[in-house]
Amino acid sequence: LRTLVIVLGDQLDLDASAFDGFDPRTDTVWMAEVAEESTHVWSSQPRTAMFLAAMRHFALALQGAGRPLRYMRLDAPDNQGSLAAQLHADIVRLRPARLVMTAPGDWRVLKAIQGVAQTCALPLDIRDDRHFYTTVREFAAHARGRKSLRMEYFYREQRKRHRVLMDPQDDAQPLGGQWNFDADNREAFGAAGPGMVPPRSMFAPDAVTREVLELVAQRFASHPGSLAQFAWPVTRAQALQALHTFVDERLSLFGRYQDAMWPGNPWLYHAHLSAALNLKLLNPREVVEAAVAAHDAGRAPLSSVEGFVRQILGWREYVRGIYWTQMPGYLSRNMLGATADLPGWYWTGDTDMACLRDALTQTLTHGYANHIQRLMVTGLYALMFGVEPQQVHAWYLSVYVDAVEWVELPNTLGMGQYADGGLMGSKPYIATGKYIERMSPHCQGCRYDPAQRTGDRACPFTTLYWDFLMRHETLLAKNPRMALQVKNLARLDDAQRQSVVDRADAIRRGAVS
Ligand code: SF4
Repeated sequence: LRTLVIVLGDQLDLDASAFDGFDPRTDTVWMAEVAEESTHVWSSQPRTAMFLAAMRHFALALQGAGRPLRYMRLDAPDNQGSLAAQLHADIVRLRPARLVMTAPGDWRVLKAIQGVAQTCALPLDIRDDRHFYTTVREFAAHARGRKSLRMEYFYREQRKRHRVLMDPQDDAQPLGGQWNFDADNREAFGAAGPGMVPPRSMFAPDAVTREVLELVAQRFASHPGSLAQFAWPVTRAQALQALHTFVDERLSLFGRYQDAMWPGNPWLYHAHLSAALNLKLLNPREVVEAAVAAHDAGRAPLSSVEGFVRQILGWREYVRGIYWTQMPGYLSRNMLGATADLPGWYWTGDTDMACLRDALTQTLTHGYANHIQRLMVTGLYALMFGVEPQQVHAWYLSVYVDAVEWVELPNTLGMGQYADGGLMGSKPYIATGKYIERMSPHCQGCRYDPAQRTGDRACPFTTLYWDFLMRHETLLAKNPRMALQVKNLARLDDAQRQSVVDRADAIRRGAVS
């Protein structure tokens, strides 16, 4: 055997760089389902099922393309249980002359595979992941010499460089004269609710996926989440169908309602394409091109299309750059010195807080929550509660079907928890329950009152907001973007401050939840 081509569960792309020069007469693809990937964090059942179902369908696609494959199933008796041990065992058996792979998404996995190659004294050819618009080297060059990094400037460079949504008369200017339409994209649904939102694309599990669902339910029975409503796209064809349904039916209102929430309705006008993208079933270029084409054809407004493109061409590439230029130290950052344990009900949804109950229940049922639920409900609460950021990170990495560390970690630890001290966001995202009341009707069905910061009916978000300001007053006072919030704190007298502290203590003790 000349070459063993390593393909990981989030590298399901027949055109990946690892296959360049692939010769079916001398080369073999290697894939492995291993328990460690579901246990190094307590991976939810929907997340594990998503990866395994997509991997098994990709194995069929490889066979269809005539590429020889060594595939280790999770339930095979000789499964070694970890990527490193399995790869080592298969190298001993197959005796390849070298290893080839596309650069992995996770630092941990890169180190494990490099370790095996070294132990076996085999050359390991790690190739750029051209799924992304930007290489890590290009991001590092962008970051070099800048006093502070901001996604907005990186995103504008990306727009110019890749000529996406640029003015046809002047290719230095953004289409429509403006880079950012955030101000148009913050609407709530109002009393009438979201109305007739076109349904999301659902894919009934075929025989391959059903077998995976049974395996996961049996093997990971104690893991969180349920599989009863599993309907994610697990093949490239399904992912393309989901993309086109989104662009045709929901993109036009995506922007306007991207920050809105509605009880019992997880899907709304969102794309739900992140898992398909992160497993590489979709290429970001085809996603961006489909959205831009909808605008060109007059089927979606610029504000919506720009908001969507910003997520793919801007945020997604930016967080990958942050991850790979900051690891491995990034993983242990804890700027605010937060040490509390994650409340146990994050794993069950068993809380009286209506907004959190809704976000957690749908997360465990579907492995999905939209970005505002992640940032401004589950993330916001953990930040103000003072949960140790590594525990918050482990929870997000466990529960979401799209969670791969390179994208999840900077979003959670940096953007959500401000643990990186401002690398991802220029200020901590904190708010009282009034923000959630503005963006959803959750508070109407809640036993708590977002306007109250102390007393039995005080909304825990509101109490913890004031408590957070007090605990970090000195640090926040140095941040000009926090000046107004810190100034408001000065209006509280000592007795009011003490009431907040007492109520926050009760919340942390679990007496209020
Ligand atoms: Fe959430 Fe507070 Fe509103 Fe209840 S009152 S739904 S806890 S924001």
